[in-house]
Amino acid sequence: MFFIAGTNNKKKTVGQGQFFCPHCQAQRNYEHKTVQPHLSLYFISVLPIGEKQELIECMTCHMQFAMEVLELNPAKKRKPLELSDMINRQEDILRGGKPAEYLVRDMVVLGLDNDAAWKLVKAELGDQTVICPDCQLTYADNVTQCSECGQELKTS
Ligand SMILES: [Zn+2]
Ligand SMILES: [Zn+2]
Repeated sequence: MFFIAGTNNKKKTVGQGQFFCPHCQAQRNYEHKTVQPHLSLYFISVLPIGEKQELIECMTCHMQFAMEVLELNPAKKRKPLELSDMINRQEDILRGGKPAEYLVRDMVVLGLDNDAAWKLVKAELGDQTVICPDCQLTYADNVTQCSECGQELKTS
């Protein structure tokens, strides 16, 4: 009598979802699998050996990837600050020490009209501003230091 011994990878699907497949270059369904090598006798797995591995398999091209592939997902990337968020948060942003000119510039980049942006910012700040004498940048009056040149700001 002799044994036919070998190894056998036991695969188990433990989850599924969508990911950005680097091979397909597209959003695909995946299966999250664990692979546990087993010692087999007569082609039957009898004993787990070695370390269990986890992998992500693309359901379209069947390429297998390390778990880190899920972090490549471009859909998971943080969305940039939207104009509406910026407008909602303008008080915090200005009181946090950002010059009004820079906030206006950021709003314009996000698609707001320059005049409209200034109107919003001025409505927020009112007369309560300090201006850096060197940079000519406008700050909320609680700001004590120019973020551009580091100069101390004095409320007049
Ligand atoms: Zn694929
Ligand atoms: Zn300055």
